[in-house]
Amino acid sequence: MILPPSTLGMLGGGQLGRFFVAAAHELGYRVWVLDPDPHSPAGLIADRHLVAGYEDYAALDELAQGCAAISTEFENVPAGTLDYLAKFVVVRPSAAAVSICQNRIAEKNFLRQHGLPVANFVAVHQEQDLREASADLFPGILKVARFGYDGKGQAVVGSAEEAIAAFQHFKGETCVLEEKLQLACEVSVVLARDEHGLSKSFPTAENSHRAGILDVSLVPARASDALSSRAAELAGRIAERLGYIGTLAVEFFVVRGELVVNEMAPRPHNSGHYTLDACLTSQFEQQVRTLCGLPLGDTRAHSAAAMVNLLGDIWYESGPAGNRYREPDWAQLHAVPGLKLHLYGKHHARHGRKMGHFTVLDADPGKARELAMAARAAIGILDAP
Ligand code: ADP
Ligand code: MG
Repeated sequence: MILPPSTLGMLGGGQLGRFFVAAAHELGYRVWVLDPDPHSPAGLIADRHLVAGYEDYAALDELAQGCAAISTEFENVPAGTLDYLAKFVVVRPSAAAVSICQNRIAEKNFLRQHGLPVANFVAVHQEQDLREASADLFPGILKVARFGYDGKGQAVVGSAEEAIAAFQHFKGETCVLEEKLQLACEVSVVLARDEHGLSKSFPTAENSHRAGILDVSLVPARASDALSSRAAELAGRIAERLGYIGTLAVEFFVVRGELVVNEMAPRPHNSGHYTLDACLTSQFEQQVRTLCGLPLGDTRAHSAAAMVNLLGDIWYESGPAGNRYREPDWAQLHAVPGLKLHLYGKHHARHGRKMGHFTVLDADPGKARELAMAARAAIGILDAP
């Protein structure tokens, strides 16, 4: 076991890294963060911030020398970087697991090989692959195989011609074309798996998106208990087949009452932010625990929860003279009973940028949702979730 006051390393300095730093500090560890952005949210609160790129080997050497174990908050860390660090120090999750999750083709092939339900898809390396694509894949969604997030690098396409145009727009980048499913809803499972192969999942969340970005997560999900447990079971099987150690998130589509795996994230996940306030252990504490070889924490929720993301859009107030940039009225949120606000310390709000979130807790799931929806409108998110 790696125990305090050891130093832990974190690749990536976004909000997920920041919550990891806070959880590790709470347990008595020190944390060094590596991120090229000098203002990164996690770097600001770390014991040391190495302002360097993910392939800066001098900085990686320093990180490996200074840290007892290293994790990542960012699935696009080059697998070579994780492999290199693993020569000197404990790295969790492994490069092999991360490289499957960071490429949609590798991810879908992995799921299919292990008999897990996925949407029909085809890998697209060239226009010819789209001309030959089966008609059942239309209407479909063309997605870049790497580096897509929050709905970026995706296009809904009705025909092979439209798909070719979108492929050209993505500059011939390797893509997957998958069938567009009729979603009844979306759910996700966050779990942690330790070095002995034991895993514990958090309660299944129900998620809704706005413009491709997570908007609201509800826990418990308004799905049957059977569906929620089946999602946890499938996520557990994925973690096991990946030989995964760490916190893992799995996103699912619900289609005609059945689960289809959408994608995995080899790190804590936005839809697991509710665990910070509603569970005995958070997804970030589990990340620390699995990294250090501590026993897994208890994942029970003590409350129902409704989480709402706060994007940079609410910093822009539209008025007769155009858009005005101002700080949202946080006092309104603090007045709501059971509401916990988290702001990520980002210096400038941009449209679509994740700036913070809040979670409303209540014994009654309907009440938590109702209070959260009213607070969401009060802070300026006006369209229906
Ligand atoms: P990202 O990496 O941006 O999260 P996803 O593949 O999860 O990419 O897609 C973002 C959202 O787009 C999903 O949460 C879902 O709402 C919608 N979506 C993605 N793929 C499909 C699909 N095959 N059918 C229907 N909706 C989809
Ligand atoms: Mg997604």
